[in-house]
Amino acid sequence: MIPGPEANICVDCVRHANEMVTRHEKSAKDVPPLPPTPTPREIKSFLDQYVIGHDEVKKVLAVAVHNHYRRLEAAESGKKDDGVEIEKSNILLIGPTGTGKTLLARTLAKMLGVPFAIGDATVLTQAGYVGEDVENLVRYLLQNADGNVELAKRGIIYVDEIDKIASKTDNVSITRDVSGEGVQQALLKILEGTICRIPPKGGRKHPDQEYIEVDTSNILFICGGAFVGLDKIVGERTGKRAIGFGASVADGKDGTDGASGSPAPQPMDVRPEDLVKFGLIPEFTGRLPVITTMKELSEDDLVRVLTEPKNSLVKQYQKLLSMDGVSLSFEADALKSLAKTALERKTGARGLRAEMERLMTDVMYEAPGNAKMKKVVVTKKMVEERN
Ligand code: ADP
Repeated sequence: MIPGPEANICVDCVRHANEMVTRHEKSAKDVPPLPPTPTPREIKSFLDQYVIGHDEVKKVLAVAVHNHYRRLEAAESGKKDDGVEIEKSNILLIGPTGTGKTLLARTLAKMLGVPFAIGDATVLTQAGYVGEDVENLVRYLLQNADGNVELAKRGIIYVDEIDKIASKTDNVSITRDVSGEGVQQALLKILEGTICRIPPKGGRKHPDQEYIEVDTSNILFICGGAFVGLDKIVGERTGKRAIGFGASVADGKDGTDGASGSPAPQPMDVRPEDLVKFGLIPEFTGRLPVITTMKELSEDDLVRVLTEPKNSLVKQYQKLLSMDGVSLSFEADALKSLAKTALERKTGARGLRAEMERLMTDVMYEAPGNAKMKKVVVTKKMVEERN
């Protein structure tokens, strides 16, 4: 108890009051002006530094994020005289695992001046079930905005594995996945724009708790998923043989990619009705008007992933070893061989790290402190011996 002139107050109450005041101050003031709106070109060229390939997807993201800023500008300036309200266009990223969906989202976060959160749809459940409430996505965003509600309202949320909440429409009577649909309904509300009531300290809600209210109308949602089997659904509709992701067209009339003479992969033309067949409810697909598909990375892409990004694996190992005075280089064939193995294992770029770790263990063990090893050249043979 802390004694005052007329009454005493307990330590818990002091702490509680302090928290309330801080929170109130945070949400009431300290809303910095919007950062300058980057042009779509600026956004794309930033993404290019970290993410290999996916030019079209980067363009779509760049435009969407640019528009997101513009919409915020319009909303925050309070001018609505002309009656034109810019609606948000949430985005759906479809592509196999390990192609860089999360990386794209993370890289956007790195460049943007607005709060950003990444969540996973697989852990979400309908409110009241065991698991995470959909509102938690907004809670992460609020955390990343340092508790500032006004900032959080400008944010972007990436929801991974969105395909996992599809209800299985085959065998409707037996295996209909009601919870999947429930999660979609719950998510739909947040995507559309609703007032989310978030318990300040996290955890589960209970009736007499105080809530922080966050309006999600201006939060941009990017959803990502592998959508295994969607290529077949698209194939059935278009009557064209599906040959995997981002390469649905194989009717022989397309251009070729020159080098191999095989048909050049065409982006898969996914329509909302395909997603409904896959198991997303129509209202949900309606809230994801921008649909973009990502191709599987080719062997050449994987070699580029190893070497080109600002923090590529090769650059990371070179830096590590240079700290021990060792120079490291890779023969071109060695990199190709690494890429080939990752491709064969169907792990996309994700598998490159494991391959590289296996390969580099011996070098990393031997080279530091070894006066005879000042220069290491990794050859194809070394890669093959490790496989
Ligand atoms: P996804 O979300 O599509 O499953 P991730 O973004 O998690 O894939 O990719 C896993 C890792 O693989 C990334 O952290 C990154 O190191 C690497 N990677 C994947 N795609 C690319 C790419 N296009 N360019 C550069 N690195 C990539």
